[in-house]
Amino acid sequence: MTLGWILGLHLAAAAGIIATAAGLLPLPGWPVFAIAGALLFLGGLGTTVAYHRALTHRAVRLNPLVEQVLIACAVANGSGNPRNWVAMHRLHHATSDRADDISSPHQGGFWWAHLRWLWQADTRRAQDLVRDLDRRRYRWWGPLQVPALALSVAGGLLAAPWGLEAVAAALWIGPLRLIWALHAQCTVNSICHLGAVEDAHGSGKNVGWLAPVHMFQGENWHANHHRRQTDVRLGYGPQLDLGWWTILGLRAVGLAGKLRRPGATSAPSP
Ligand SMILES: [Zn+2]
Ligand SMILES: [Zn+2]
Repeated sequence: MTLGWILGLHLAAAAGIIATAAGLLPLPGWPVFAIAGALLFLGGLGTTVAYHRALTHRAVRLNPLVEQVLIACAVANGSGNPRNWVAMHRLHHATSDRADDISSPHQGGFWWAHLRWLWQADTRRAQDLVRDLDRRRYRWWGPLQVPALALSVAGGLLAAPWGLEAVAAALWIGPLRLIWALHAQCTVNSICHLGAVEDAHGSGKNVGWLAPVHMFQGENWHANHHRRQTDVRLGYGPQLDLGWWTILGLRAVGLAGKLRRPGATSAPSP
């Protein structure tokens, strides 16, 4: 199913790009790009704030409604359901760059780490790592995933009045946005783990040029994160981390609490 989803997205996007280049589909106006960008941004926050910092590492506690909204954004961004994402990510931290790290480029090469592990790795053992998420409010995202993604792919049809303009809107808000989201996330496992294994924390790297790819939400500061996995903050000093700023904003209005900043007197070296 995962392979079919990824192939289908790429085929739809390629057909759409070719049709646009050939003049068969119009280029949508700025409102469509604004909607696609906003969904991408919210989806990224769903992954980094809810899936990663709150659920995987328990580095912040979110208001339950905010948590559900952010999970919905992450699911609609193609990040999978929360229990699955958290299981894979906890396994990655527990086994970083060793033989049983299912997403390391040091074990399977660049394309394994970037995409192939998503449908080829044996992930059954990771399910033992998410017993704390065996609750209804996380389990129900399993069956909800398919309808959420169907809406996410086709919902763009509603962004333009009708005809070819609606198809063009659906292309940019659906497959093209989801491909950006997919590859942006995949760079954390592939590009951010290229190069030497630095220390016991693995080969995680801070990759500055990936910051705009991740919409400055902080996941590209991956060396920081491997060294301080329970720190709610990923970027330090000038390293922009809008996930952190979002959490500060949520805390200011009482929607987030229990922020963890272990040993945060100074930033770790990049
Ligand atoms: Zn990593
Ligand atoms: Zn992590």
